[in-house]
Amino acid sequence: MSELHTYTLTQLAAGLRAKKFSSVELTKHFLTRVEKFNGEINAYITITADVALKQAAAADAQLASGKGGALTGLPLAHKDIFCTDGVLTTCGSKMLSNFVAPYDATVVTRLKEAGIVMLGKTNMDEFAMGSSNETSYFGAVKNPWNLNKVPGGSSGGSAAAVAARIAPAATGTDTGGSIRQPAALTSLTGIKPTYGRVSRYGMIAFASSLDQGGVMCLSAEDAALLLQSMSGFDEKDSTCIDAPVPDYSATLNQPLKGLKIGLLKEFFEQGLSPENAKPVRDALAVYEKLGAQLIEVSLPNLPLSVPTYYVVAPAECSSNLSRFDGVRFGYRCDSPRDLMDLYKRSRGEGFGSEVKRRIMTGTYVLSAGYYDAYYLRAQKIRRLITDDFANAFKQVDVLMGPTSPTPAFDIGAKVDDPVTMYLNDIYTIGANLAGLPAMSIPCGFLDELPVGLQIIGAHFSEAKLLNVAHMYQQATEWHKRIPQRYA
Ligand code: GLN
Repeated sequence: MSELHTYTLTQLAAGLRAKKFSSVELTKHFLTRVEKFNGEINAYITITADVALKQAAAADAQLASGKGGALTGLPLAHKDIFCTDGVLTTCGSKMLSNFVAPYDATVVTRLKEAGIVMLGKTNMDEFAMGSSNETSYFGAVKNPWNLNKVPGGSSGGSAAAVAARIAPAATGTDTGGSIRQPAALTSLTGIKPTYGRVSRYGMIAFASSLDQGGVMCLSAEDAALLLQSMSGFDEKDSTCIDAPVPDYSATLNQPLKGLKIGLLKEFFEQGLSPENAKPVRDALAVYEKLGAQLIEVSLPNLPLSVPTYYVVAPAECSSNLSRFDGVRFGYRCDSPRDLMDLYKRSRGEGFGSEVKRRIMTGTYVLSAGYYDAYYLRAQKIRRLITDDFANAFKQVDVLMGPTSPTPAFDIGAKVDDPVTMYLNDIYTIGANLAGLPAMSIPCGFLDELPVGLQIIGAHFSEAKLLNVAHMYQQATEWHKRIPQRYA
């Protein structure tokens, strides 16, 4: 029982069903580890031990009566961007440091109904703006592979929690790479589904046309299990798509013979060092052995994705974050002189500098004089990038390349240089602009730090992505490695 944290969610589910251990025992095991290790990693903002033990006891009762489903009794951590009824929901910000959500996000509701046990809420970049988890009001998160390095962001707390095995899986959100990039930097499997596949209701909005919830876990098999319960139509989110959710676990083992893999020319040319490309190229060779065919494809407009994103995302965030005004919820400044003073000081004191930078950029690009030059132009380029992807998927089944230009970097190394920080997402942003599903899976190490392989698919091809990832994980061991300290 002392090794329960080394198991995947799928293995834990089997153990629960076979009555090798109970959900209460499993939950206690993880809570003990959280207590032991969270101090040094800072992965959790809130630990919900009482809720977890109650849910675990209820799950055990369900399992005993033979009624439990595939997820009943399994512990999980939620990114602190998902509203959780009666539980502190901060979004990594001082602005919401006192905000207790009055309802559950749909993702939380669905997992709760499936019998998931909530261990707590994980740290994140403030309002999901960042690639290193250093913009959090609650402090930086450490990478379990090397405590001097960042875990990536913005879902850095979720990534670190799973990598250190103080949660067997966690939810995340991905607006420009925030599931895939931290998954790559901590050796996890992360999937961002197609835009509209998972409800955004109750997921605090950053850039609404890009935000999408997903999962971070130890294998494609685990991802299939969780995504199954999270996905599907929700009448509370008007952008959520009303289409049936396929059985993701059923097609995991389909052979890859004849699979056409597109190699993104722009990804391998742009800012990728040969050392960092090596594990990715090795992974491609594994796919060739599995019967896949590699085809180079070019997406000519893809190099414009970072500048396009940094117009569109701030524009949307400047509108979304206008609701935090010191009146309705969250932080309010002390003894305001008048209404203007209340607005100004509450926002001035409540938001951190990266969030302010985005709000100002967004307000600027949406202003009457600059709308056509920046916002409208960015929207047009977004369409061209989307068309590039659509053309590529006429030739190939999936696209592959690196997830991140470098492995995890030192804490503090990029935090004062926003443009360098923004370039971390150079490979991930395209999928968000086009609304495509994309994954990152562990594919090796560079200087003892994990490297991720990115797989991008056509709209609603999650089942294919999971299948492609699973077959690689059947043939390799990278995803099984555990940081020594947390083994
Ligand atoms: N790092 C990107 C940003 O700072 C993406 C964040 C995200 O996906 N939430 O905006």
